[in-house]
Amino acid sequence: MRHPVGERRRVRVRVNIRRARGRAGWNRTSLLAGEITFNADRIFLLFPCADDHVDLDEQTCEQARLNYDARYDGRVFIGVTTTGVYCRPICPTPHAKRSHVQYFPTAAAAAQAGFRPCLRCRPEVAPGTPAWNGTSTTVNRGLRLIAEGALDEAGVERLAERLGVTSRHLSRLFLRHLGALPTAVARTRRLHFAKQLISDTNLPMTQVALASGFGSIRRFNDVFRQYYGRPPSELRRLGKRPGSSEGEYVFQLAYRPPYAWNALLAFLAPRAIPGVEAVRDGTYRRVIALRDVHGLLEVTQRPEKHALRVRVQLHRPELLLQAISRVRAMFDLNAAPELIQQDLRRDRLLASYLRLCPGLRLPGAWDPFELVVHAILAQETSLEDSAGLMGRLAERYGEPLTVSGGIDLARTFPQPPTLAVSDLAGIPPAASNMIRAAARRRRAGGPGHARG
Ligand SMILES: [Zn+2]
Repeated sequence: MRHPVGERRRVRVRVNIRRARGRAGWNRTSLLAGEITFNADRIFLLFPCADDHVDLDEQTCEQARLNYDARYDGRVFIGVTTTGVYCRPICPTPHAKRSHVQYFPTAAAAAQAGFRPCLRCRPEVAPGTPAWNGTSTTVNRGLRLIAEGALDEAGVERLAERLGVTSRHLSRLFLRHLGALPTAVARTRRLHFAKQLISDTNLPMTQVALASGFGSIRRFNDVFRQYYGRPPSELRRLGKRPGSSEGEYVFQLAYRPPYAWNALLAFLAPRAIPGVEAVRDGTYRRVIALRDVHGLLEVTQRPEKHALRVRVQLHRPELLLQAISRVRAMFDLNAAPELIQQDLRRDRLLASYLRLCPGLRLPGAWDPFELVVHAILAQETSLEDSAGLMGRLAERYGEPLTVSGGIDLARTFPQPPTLAVSDLAGIPPAASNMIRAAARRRRAGGPGHARG
């Protein structure tokens, strides 16, 4: 499928032909600058349209490529027709001729067009797709849900239902904005994670297949070979990876520079829950609990690589993808500072702050419920005191850590079922009532519910 970024359409045509016959599933044929996509009962003509989907035109993409511009990393992917490989703008391989290059808004779109990921610049570690300038809230929310695993657990119909649109409309929006169908975006996410596990860990292949959401090793091998053009075993270099012992994994997650890491740590430090989280010497560490499995997380910055280094200690590899997805959200790794600055710079006051501290990120939370409890306590007390009270809740109602975490990390934060029925002694009465109510709601799967 061809869906290069930046080809401005001259006309926009959409044709619905009901009862048109086609083979089952999606079939596509290139049609001049646009394309034709049809399924069993409908034909859509979709024309890539710069003014209603992406902010990048062809010239910007070309400049980003020629300048190895990390600000565009993950916002544009470069397909080289002579090699059949797609790259990040920062790829160190010599530049191909312009006439041999095509641009794509997502890795999934490049893959759908038949390009294989470059083994040198590793598109699997690129920053995620940023929110598209508010042009499609549905696509943004859809991307977020896919990143949280929505298509690992259910199909596109259910995803569309959650977004309040039909699955057909959702597919059409995804194609227009991202150049790829929701299923292709989800498949690329799983394959990219598998490739990270192959390159960066010693996990056996059967475990890699499981951890990246493939039901069987056979299915994993087939899909992987199709995507990378070779079997997974061929991509695993010999030798043990440093710092990669049993149950311990290290990932580099790229971001688009600048990244105000110290400012983010300065935000997290006074809010850190004693015994559960710690911020020290430029590093964020915390206890994690996923489906009752305890683990540890350590995040530091690698500014020279425009990446965060994430060390995860977790004895259930099938939970790794979820852990890494949460880290990506928590540290706002999909943000595109360039776009944010463009908008905020219009305000004179904000522009001066942007100059003082470029690359600010929106801090996220590991667990929404934990954040809700903290917000309730912060209404009643000071910031420091509320962190102390969070620590008291962990001390009293959390579980002792079952993995070795060092002296400062010792407990999990208590889960909603525990807090819903606890007396919460020592917590201001108004806050304890609200915490119990929030815990009951969360237990019932209400807002703030996160998979865990
Ligand atoms: Zn490359």
